[in-house]
Amino acid sequence: MVEKVKTTICGGCKKSVPMYEIKYMPKGYEGSVPLCRQCVLDEEAKKQKTKERKEKASLMPKKTIRFVCERCRYKFDYDPKGRKARRCPSCGKDDKIEEDKFSMSSVLETV
Ligand SMILES: [Zn+2]
Ligand SMILES: [Zn+2]
Repeated sequence: MVEKVKTTICGGCKKSVPMYEIKYMPKGYEGSVPLCRQCVLDEEAKKQKTKERKEKASLMPKKTIRFVCERCRYKFDYDPKGRKARRCPSCGKDDKIEEDKFSMSSVLETV
């Protein structure tokens, strides 16, 4: 007599897999979904990726910082990561450039 292993349908790949391979993963309003070992791994990898992407996005500093030239009070946006020299587009001087802290709160530390 062949011992029949209980199987269930994996919610991920829709394959019939033995119960011992199944892990119930919480999922949205459905409550939980049975997933086979491979799908659990896939799911976790996916989650990890989304998390990483989110973290990266939140780590991304603002591209430009608002600077103000103390000489002519000209305000301009400058990308600190860019290659352009930080100088006033109006008077061309770079010795009196200050971060304009009043108009924009910058998350970026000056390194
Ligand atoms: Zn599966
Ligand atoms: Zn200027």
